[in-house]
Amino acid sequence: MTPPPANPAHGANSPAARDIAHVLHPYTDHKAHREKGPLVITGGRGVYVSDENGKEYLETVAGLWCAGLGFQNERLVQAAAEQMRKLPFYHAFTGRSHMPLIELSEMLIERAPVPMSKAFFANSGSEANDTALKMIWYMNNALGRPQKKKVISRIGGYHGVTVAAASLTGLPANHKLFDLPIAGILHTSRPHHYHNAQPGESEEEFATRLAAELEEMIVREGPDTVAGFFAEPVMGAGGVIVPPATYFEKIQAVLRKYDVLLVADEVICGFGRTGSYWGSQTMGMQPDILTCAKALSSSYLPISGVLVNERVYEALSEGSSQIGTWGHGYTYSGHPVAAAVAVETLKIYDEMDIVSHAAASGAVMQKRLREAVADHPLVGEVRGIGLIGAVELVENKAEHRNFDPAKKVAAKLVALGEEHGLILRALPNDSIAFSPPQIITPDEVEIMVTRFSKALDALSVQLR
Ligand code: PLP
Repeated sequence: MTPPPANPAHGANSPAARDIAHVLHPYTDHKAHREKGPLVITGGRGVYVSDENGKEYLETVAGLWCAGLGFQNERLVQAAAEQMRKLPFYHAFTGRSHMPLIELSEMLIERAPVPMSKAFFANSGSEANDTALKMIWYMNNALGRPQKKKVISRIGGYHGVTVAAASLTGLPANHKLFDLPIAGILHTSRPHHYHNAQPGESEEEFATRLAAELEEMIVREGPDTVAGFFAEPVMGAGGVIVPPATYFEKIQAVLRKYDVLLVADEVICGFGRTGSYWGSQTMGMQPDILTCAKALSSSYLPISGVLVNERVYEALSEGSSQIGTWGHGYTYSGHPVAAAVAVETLKIYDEMDIVSHAAASGAVMQKRLREAVADHPLVGEVRGIGLIGAVELVENKAEHRNFDPAKKVAAKLVALGEEHGLILRALPNDSIAFSPPQIITPDEVEIMVTRFSKALDALSVQLR
């Protein structure tokens, strides 16, 4: 029995009332949700999704930066159905294997941005990053340097929500009230030139300062105690922060100097998002470990991957032979149906030349967003690269000053976006993300930008 709705606007027994009565939503203000209720999505078509009333919205963030092939791809449905009939489940523990796992591992290693040795699978980006962290700990124990365990990530970085991944994440909402971060995880500065550079500091000078700050942190902590550095090529959920020119070149010089492993979190940036196959290629990163998820299966089924280079593999191998097993793995690691869907996704990306397609649509998106809204009085910065971008709203353009968070300006724009047929996503600092499915065409980008401009104008009227 569904209790009567808290807000009478949600009719008795409506999907909204049933949702409010029973669902505990991720990333939601539970009290506000009781009043506002859900947006119930019932269907999808290309870059669009539709709600229970049949209203269609262009999905500007591909769900959660993830449905690379959009919301209705029959080949992925077929791949899942065929695999379900053939072998719906098998595991990969104790050396058991199956063909989708073998094929997907091969394909990812072939496509890796730097020489990689092996692929491991999990179910989410968080689990992939947890795995990468545990690999680093395990590796250093196996190599006989048990003190080398601390890991550095960045303020504003997003790496997930499991205990370790949330600790790596550098956002207050993921730490406050959760008693996180755990010990041994440190955060260095966010590489956001617009907010964090000093007056007159060039991008290169800013990058030099950030690398010096990282080096000071490593030296202060003791280089023998610092083992890894986690970074998204372009920070996503923390605000779509494209690092300043020369950033990763300078950061990697510091990491190499102190033998600190680089983990590239490609959970958002992989598979064409930044205009190259991997964000690491766009940003000149040479990771030792690479994590990926989301667009790996176009998110039709949950699957994430961890690629490791030969050096990491050798150390894991050594440790596991000492103990008799590498005591890590999930029941669904490399799940055959998810893996089969990922294999099909990667084949489709190859056939459609996802990199050229995303680079072309991405160039249009970057240009048109800037042309349409950069001079708008409410817009402080339009930023991004390829098919990932953000528009940051400010109260004072000259001072780069955001609105008082209590005004909930970005949330108002998200609501106006819905009225204009757009699903928008608000990020910290009143930034609105753009990360549409990689299949988006230049014409669809145009529709997205036009609708967004109208919603922004409507926000100006509302704020008057
Ligand atoms: N890493 C990055 C860069 C992400 O954007 C996300 C999710 O948005 C994660 C990790 C966590 O992935 P999941 O939500 O699948 O655990």
